[in-house]
Amino acid sequence: MTAPHSLAPAAELDAADALASFRQEFHLPLGPDGRPCAYFCGNSLGLQPKAARAAAEQEFDAWERLGVEGHFHGVSPWMHYHETLTDATARLVGAQPIEVVVMNNLTVNLHLLLVSFYRPTATRYRILMEGGAFPSDQYAIESQARLHGLDPAAAIVELVPRPGEHTLRTEDIEATIAGLGESLATVLIGGVNYYTGQAFDMAAIARAGHAVGATVGFDLAHAAGNLDLRLHDWDVDFACWCSYKYLNSGPGGTSGVFVHERFANRPDLVRLAGWWGHDPSDRFQMKKGFRPMAGAAGWQLSNAQIFPMAIHRASLELVDRAGGMPALRRKSEQLTARLESQIRALNLPADKLEIITPADPAQRGCQLSVLVHERGRELFDYLASVGVIADWREPNVIRMAPVPLYNSFEDVDRAGEALARFFS
Ligand SMILES: *Cc1c(COP(=O)(O)O)cnc(C)c1O
Repeated sequence: MTAPHSLAPAAELDAADALASFRQEFHLPLGPDGRPCAYFCGNSLGLQPKAARAAAEQEFDAWERLGVEGHFHGVSPWMHYHETLTDATARLVGAQPIEVVVMNNLTVNLHLLLVSFYRPTATRYRILMEGGAFPSDQYAIESQARLHGLDPAAAIVELVPRPGEHTLRTEDIEATIAGLGESLATVLIGGVNYYTGQAFDMAAIARAGHAVGATVGFDLAHAAGNLDLRLHDWDVDFACWCSYKYLNSGPGGTSGVFVHERFANRPDLVRLAGWWGHDPSDRFQMKKGFRPMAGAAGWQLSNAQIFPMAIHRASLELVDRAGGMPALRRKSEQLTARLESQIRALNLPADKLEIITPADPAQRGCQLSVLVHERGRELFDYLASVGVIADWREPNVIRMAPVPLYNSFEDVDRAGEALARFFS
């Protein structure tokens, strides 16, 4: 394949890529021509690690052979299963082990965390979010406002880009927070915006929120497994994410939760409780009176979802084996920069096609969002017909996310060539 000649040949980069072998660890869907497609939808549903099936089968075997005794016996007894995910999860998001737990699904966890960290009062009741946030987040926040008897229109403040711009400026976010001052109860925004691909300066936002006495949380659905996160050091109060996008843990997969260490021993925090969050020393005495476990584990409700967790564990092992997020991020930046060069080499005017994701690598993850002003749907369908799998967001955005675990430089060039052919 031919790359724009300022770029090194993809084959050379793939041959020199220390992470190239991880592609073999995944099932790559086949394109219309019968060869593996160039899959850029890891931001929507990550591909299946080959190890996932064996991981689930191990638990089918335990269930088959042991029945209820699988809680206490077998290779990985279910009673403590969720604990086997803690260390890898802490490494993944830059947390202390006590700050993380894996449980439930993302929107459920958003609600559980908001119940504890969005505690509006008569004067401090506002919650700041991104305009045009992912719909589930909008509904969650609206319904949380109503839960407290508030009118969502009065309680929710939305951040919007300046006229003519597509993404938010950190200084504008900080100024909005400062302007809301003591009326601001909570900031809850995406770590990476699902639509534009913009990555936010979470440390700056946490600082600004804390300066006015607000709690600060992030929905990391598009950030976990994509960015090299440092949630503890950034002083984030709470966060949650799903595992089926960049974490390749299967459709409907389980979710991760972060609660900063400073809340680890705060049994007084209002929360919705369940037995799995109760002090394990007397969990099975089935007595009255909830006493939460220390740390994020104290937000658990239900006994562990073994099958989604088995897949998630296999997936997190791949991240660790690849050298963790710093290593993945290095390759990710190269892949995305290459895709960006290919798109810029089309030389199309901004009224035809425009990348709305920030050009600064520090302000994005792997995803590029391309606003296609005409023939967008046609372009998207053309890409699919040649085995380049992107995703389409109404009204006219194509999102492409080359991921470091299974995408190659060759994949990126396939996308670049297909785009060039479409527009030639
Ligand atoms: C993917 C995504 C969700 C999905 O929520 P589920 O509860 O896992 O269905 C929610 N919010 C954001 C920002 C997402 O990107």
